[in-house]
Amino acid sequence: MRVLGSVAVFIILLSTLTAQTNAQIMHIPAFDGDNAYDCILNQCSFGPRPPGSENLTLCRLYISENLESFGWNVTLQNFTYRETICTNIIATWNSSINASIVLGAHYDTRPEASQEPDLLNRTKPILGANDGGSGTAILMELARVLPESVRSEIEIVLFDAEDSGGINGWEWIRGSTYYVAELNSTRRESISAMVLVDMVGDNDLNLPREGSSTSSLQNAIWSIAGQMAHGDIFVDSVGGSIIDDHRPFLDAGIPAVDLIQYPFPEYWHTLQDTPDKCSAESLEIVGSVLEVFIVEHVAGNGTYPPDVPYLVYAAIIIVPGFIILVVYLYRKQ
Ligand SMILES: [Zn+2]
Repeated sequence: MRVLGSVAVFIILLSTLTAQTNAQIMHIPAFDGDNAYDCILNQCSFGPRPPGSENLTLCRLYISENLESFGWNVTLQNFTYRETICTNIIATWNSSINASIVLGAHYDTRPEASQEPDLLNRTKPILGANDGGSGTAILMELARVLPESVRSEIEIVLFDAEDSGGINGWEWIRGSTYYVAELNSTRRESISAMVLVDMVGDNDLNLPREGSSTSSLQNAIWSIAGQMAHGDIFVDSVGGSIIDDHRPFLDAGIPAVDLIQYPFPEYWHTLQDTPDKCSAESLEIVGSVLEVFIVEHVAGNGTYPPDVPYLVYAAIIIVPGFIILVVYLYRKQ
């Protein structure tokens, strides 16, 4: 009986210890999904926003003014592609150029609804509420709510010319390709994480792990989502491998992760990509998870323990301790 009693005490102590380890103090996110949803409405109020258009110029002004009103320094990075002047929007805190996290989204929209079932509609431009609008909205709300203590570690980049691939000889992801090509080697090495959000606003959001992303970053983000009870949206399975704005970063050896709905929603690249397909709830979930991730990433300097399942750690520590205790107690009798 005495042995059983001691074993019971040991197990209780152990579970208390484990519970305390799991209940780490987590940053409480301030991300507001309604604000992010309003930002989708505001972008869509300019109409379709393809590269080189007047609508995109007006939207860029709206984005830049908002970022500046939250205290960020905005720089416009111009480049010319196939005789079109394109512009990436770059926001930094205190003019810092050594931020360790790059947050990215594209703010342009596809010039033609190439997935429209009706042939006559295929040359019309899409509104891009989810595809373009949602990622930009997440970054705008993060710019508003991120704690000041982490802002100098953040660079926000809204890419132009992501979504014109296959139209009139255009390639995909021109803005991010240009941005990465302009980084010198010191700057490349100072980026520990590039986080991309693209098509993250759907009412019925489903975010499996994108196939080409850096797994240590994915593990960190999906683990936070799980702890915040959003494992039903941050699904722990592998989705598609997508050509998106994180690719130039990966190609340059920079850790990068793409948060993107997969399979793509039915209205993808059609005239039906309108604000009613998105919800404040979905935006708030993605934004809150990223807010916590950013705070934790900055606090941990972007280093993560090796990807060993928790049970393995538990077995290594618990099993020998348990055996030693039982042997000790039996000998004592
Ligand atoms: Zn697209």
